[in-house]
Amino acid sequence: FSGNDDLKALIRTIPDFPKPGIQFRDITSLLLDGAGFSVCVDRLTALAAPLRPDLIAAVEARGFIFGAAIAKSLGVGVLPIRKPGKLPGARVGVDYALEYGTDRLEMHAHDLQPATRVLIVDDLIATGGTVMATVELIRNHGGVVAGAVFAVDLPDLGGAARLRDAGVETLSLMAFE
Ligand code: IMP
Repeated sequence: FSGNDDLKALIRTIPDFPKPGIQFRDITSLLLDGAGFSVCVDRLTALAAPLRPDLIAAVEARGFIFGAAIAKSLGVGVLPIRKPGKLPGARVGVDYALEYGTDRLEMHAHDLQPATRVLIVDDLIATGGTVMATVELIRNHGGVVAGAVFAVDLPDLGGAARLRDAGVETLSLMAFE
């Protein structure tokens, strides 16, 4: 029992998206529920606050929604972690492996003062590939990873364990086995 079963009931499952055999956990149904989204952000903020972040790194695209709301609650800024070609200024990036091929995440090059405590936020952690790439980006450019916070964890895919092995404090509200 997670204690967040009320929120879990607001997340719908779409079978066979984006590929046959995948059970896609869809947070858009939670976003549509004003009271549910508000409670979700309050609980994520309660997880995030003890990690004492100076900045929230929000991962494109659904991480922007939760990350910005948590940042507002904590009174800290937002560092957007973006897909290639979106950021206008001088940028740095990291390539990471997908099941088939590679992908890339970027951030602006000069946004992190040394030792800035950065909390990574995304809607969901699956294999952890996306967030491990974000950890690398932050650590390679002067930041300290304060932790990582997710609305949803898919523990069977091992991402949270992988992050903890890399020394990242990893917290989530809901798990789908
Ligand atoms: P990972 O890199 O394997 O941990 O995948 C996490 C990324 O893929 C996150 O940015 C998620 O938004 C997205 N993702 C993977 N599986 C799902 C799902 O079931 N529902 C919603 N997003 C997902």
